[in-house]
Amino acid sequence: MDSSAMTDGFHLVVDALKLNGIDTIYGVAGIPITDLARLAQAEGLRYVGFRHEQSAGNAAAIAGYLTQKPGICLTVSGPGFLNGMVALANATTNCFPMILISGSSDRAIVDLEQGDYEELDQMNAAKPFAKAAFRINKPQDIGIGVARAIHAAVSGRPGGVYLDLTAAVLGATLEVDTAQKSLVKVVDPAPRQIPDPESISRALDLLASAKRPLIILGKGAAYAQADKEIRTFIETTGIPFLPMSMAKGLLPDNHVQSVAAARSFAIGQADVVVLIGARLNWLLSHGKGPLWSEGTQYVQIDISPTEIDSNRPIAAPVVGDIKSAVGALLAALQSDQIQPTAAWLDALAQHKQKNIDRMAARLNADPNPMNFSSALRAVRDVLARRPDVYVVNEGANTLDFARNIIDMYEPRKRLDSGTWGIMGIGMGYAIGAAIVGDKPVVAVEGDSAFGFSGMEIETICRYHLPVIIVVFNNGGIYQGDKIGTPPSPTGFVPNARYDKLMEAFGGTGHHVDDTLSLTKALSDAIEAGRPALINCVIDPTAGTESGHIQSLNPKSGLSK
Ligand code: ADP
Ligand code: MG
Repeated sequence: MDSSAMTDGFHLVVDALKLNGIDTIYGVAGIPITDLARLAQAEGLRYVGFRHEQSAGNAAAIAGYLTQKPGICLTVSGPGFLNGMVALANATTNCFPMILISGSSDRAIVDLEQGDYEELDQMNAAKPFAKAAFRINKPQDIGIGVARAIHAAVSGRPGGVYLDLTAAVLGATLEVDTAQKSLVKVVDPAPRQIPDPESISRALDLLASAKRPLIILGKGAAYAQADKEIRTFIETTGIPFLPMSMAKGLLPDNHVQSVAAARSFAIGQADVVVLIGARLNWLLSHGKGPLWSEGTQYVQIDISPTEIDSNRPIAAPVVGDIKSAVGALLAALQSDQIQPTAAWLDALAQHKQKNIDRMAARLNADPNPMNFSSALRAVRDVLARRPDVYVVNEGANTLDFARNIIDMYEPRKRLDSGTWGIMGIGMGYAIGAAIVGDKPVVAVEGDSAFGFSGMEIETICRYHLPVIIVVFNNGGIYQGDKIGTPPSPTGFVPNARYDKLMEAFGGTGHHVDDTLSLTKALSDAIEAGRPALINCVIDPTAGTESGHIQSLNPKSGLSK
């Protein structure tokens, strides 16, 4: 090798990513990272260009969740970086591994606040929202910086990491020889964390004393890819289970031990609950009444020791990675050590059946115009024939109804608003899933939710991705509203034709207002495997304000 040959920061970043098995970058090009995107593509990385950084970040985050490798999002400085920050913060909140790489302006000018183009102290801005934030100030530190970012993103509890690349570092030159030596290939980025054997016997002892045990599976369990261990543990012990929304499909929703249809009863009556990769946050009412009873005791399996006792005292914490922890429980389990009582299983089965029957009546009605239940029943039936399809879901009522109605049969196929209950993840998640999953994606979207990332349908069409969007069009946030002067805070243009947006970029638009045409449009679109948008017209009066979380929405007395 010619030792005097020179390279630069751009090349080193690409080399560092490639060396660590990163094969895709999600981003929006601009100053100062345009050439980084071009070079990455020229060097064989897949570069997916978006219309807004938030969607690029969401795609990276969900790719991280699905693959256990950090998803990479690349943005420009200042406002572009900030647009990506929402996705980074969301990734951290949801425990998804992601690295946001942004170019930044001249540090000397930024630090003296002398007013640079897109001036912002990005690293410090990122810190409160990221699991870790680093800045690379010398080209020979690029290798070590990328290595640190990868370790931080995927080890322990995964999260969002910010990596700041100054324009000066990108453009800096150094000798090829020095550059090559500065690269770092990460060894064992997400080391197993074996739980203390004592914690395993404590957990099994507690479970052995239980009469009404229950297992709650969270998206940490789905992320861990311990599908076999978890299924074996559930089936060997006979403990009924309840999936959190993104853990649906870890075991199929039609599994006999699933008590999703008797959720409140199961939670309220259980005496010992095993939390596997699920936090006792608002989505589980913080473990408190009226949903929970005071005497419930917990086993909590989590990789993060500080999650323990966050909301309720945990009698049997098992700190470790889920694959190792459930494996250890299985290895130590004695036959018939855990025995849910027949009375418990019977009571659950009865509640389950009662609720299923009650729901069937609503699902099987075929009102005109359609409502959430009837339209989602049509979607459910089409998807039941295609368990390999990814389902992305956001909205208020659209999220609440779809979570309950659409059954999942395979792990990590349901991607939704998650821990923050966030809107705007739709197209980013759909694109990320289509790219890493190589399967069709059906995004079930409220019309409001869709609007946050809707422009990405151009991205979907440009890359010919098999993404099918079903917009539940009730003409507004929560409900439709007459357009008056001024328009109400929650209403949209009535009878909007979202399908025509898709046609504008070469995709297929469908406009449906009954269950038969919805069924046909969705089956055809999945079959075709190309970009499509189904404008699904439902009753503008269907839906309730704030969906299932009305209790969190204070009222002034102005609204009736
Ligand atoms: P859900 O919203 O589905 O209940 P959460 O996001 O609240 O799930 O909880 C996920 C939990 O899983 C987090 O506390 C996180 O620390 C944990 N977790 C993530 N990955 C792993 C893993 N590989 N092993 C153990 N715990 C994990
Ligand atoms: Mg709506």
